[in-house]
Amino acid sequence: MSQLQRITIHPSQLQETFIILTPKQKHYLLRVLRLGDGDKFIAMDGMGKWWLAQLTAEIAQVLELLEVKTELPISITLMMALPKGNGFDDIVRYCTELGVTCIAPVISDRTLLKPSPQKLERWQRIATEAAEQSERAFVPTILEPVTFKTAINECQINHRYICEARGEYPHLTKVINHSSSEIIIAIGPEGGWSDSELEIAIKSEFQPVSLGRRILRAVTAPVVALSLIAAICEV
Ligand code: SAM
Repeated sequence: MSQLQRITIHPSQLQETFIILTPKQKHYLLRVLRLGDGDKFIAMDGMGKWWLAQLTAEIAQVLELLEVKTELPISITLMMALPKGNGFDDIVRYCTELGVTCIAPVISDRTLLKPSPQKLERWQRIATEAAEQSERAFVPTILEPVTFKTAINECQINHRYICEARGEYPHLTKVINHSSSEIIIAIGPEGGWSDSELEIAIKSEFQPVSLGRRILRAVTAPVVALSLIAAICEV
């Protein structure tokens, strides 16, 4: 079953026991993957459900609802200051593979690049592809980029951490709350957080944490943070 190809569908494509495939999905299944009548694949809605489906005359018939157990037991929101270049593409891809629930791109004091409007669509596509490849039940939500201050003010999650590369802060693994159902973790850009951003975050009850004694690149830090959280929570 796990070897079957996966495609993400919109919930409205599921009509009783059939999946109405879009022209793009038909092209992918029939021409790119060269599937034919009777071949099976997995359709996922990106919101927790997978179905085993079978192609019959260019229509997909739903055979059964599948159980998926690939999600982390904790919901993780990554608040990530936008790095330069295409670094955010890699962050979306790797963090989706690692089990992130939501990615909130933020424009911080030291963010060098303002994202173009098409970026969000591109990141959503990358997240969908990464979720399909790593057999996730959910496709992470990618929020519209907002300023760091807006993101902090709108934060509704109780367990809050901010990664700071310098200073005597406790290691993430020492302070993470194992029993919490959701956490948010903030990571700065190449130039790091400004003093005022760190101050605002601390006032908003973000616990500053270390990811170790070495300074990690802005693209590496979220991968390390997500890996540590998964290692602690996924036992
Ligand atoms: N230019 C900054 C400096 O020299 O202090 C380093 C910024 S680092 C490249 C980018 C972001 O990754 C930081 O703002 C922080 O959120 C995170 N980060 C990198 N290494 C870290 C570490 N060892 N502990 C905690 N956070 C770290």
